[in-house]
Amino acid sequence: MIAAAGSGERLGAGGPKAFVELAGRPLLDWSLDAFRAAATVTEIVVATPPGEEGLVADRGVVAVAGGAHRSESVAKALELCGQEIVVVHDAARPLVTPALINAVVERLASDEGAAGAIAAAPVTDTIKLAGDDGEVERTLDRSGLWAVQTPQAFRADALREALSDPDSLPEATDDAMLVERRGGRMLIHPNAADNLKVTAPLDLRVAELLLRERA
Ligand code: C5P
Repeated sequence: MIAAAGSGERLGAGGPKAFVELAGRPLLDWSLDAFRAAATVTEIVVATPPGEEGLVADRGVVAVAGGAHRSESVAKALELCGQEIVVVHDAARPLVTPALINAVVERLASDEGAAGAIAAAPVTDTIKLAGDDGEVERTLDRSGLWAVQTPQAFRADALREALSDPDSLPEATDDAMLVERRGGRMLIHPNAADNLKVTAPLDLRVAELLLRERA
């Protein structure tokens, strides 16, 4: 399931972020290539901005109108998924690879008691907690801290339950946190930081360089 329903406001592209051009193609298409090539993937559902489902009509995927918040878009896509294991991915991470998608699915499949497995990079910056006035309260111990990415693989039942309370969806910054809250065991699949998320114009430039280098 690819979440592609964001407005792209922070990117200032004047349209949905998933369809912004990156290295000559819409951002979304880079992720679609990876999902199509991943051996563990059998069907693809894309959440688009409401009313824009036609944007993916020619891509051989199932389209669904997304919601106002990210996890609402994921919940809507999940309604159309009939698989036991589902993978959630943000269209905003165009550097995802088939190997990474397969790796999170296999990590989950190898542990029967786990609810999900997520790609994440070890935190390399020093992380501080500060108040609204900008004054540092304390420095966190970064050992054991992970910067979480997508793809995230879940047992569909666990994700369905985690997304069932509509009031919890607007504040969720990923779906795994909703599963964790309900006691679901989530596993980390360590990954490089280059699976970056395109949020600001600088990220587009870096992603383009990395994609060209890969080609
Ligand atoms: O806005 P942000 O960068 O956190 O969005 C992460 C991903 O979630 C993007 O791929 C975006 O298209 C998607 N999203 C969505 N529905 C929303 C908001 C964001 O599918 N309502």
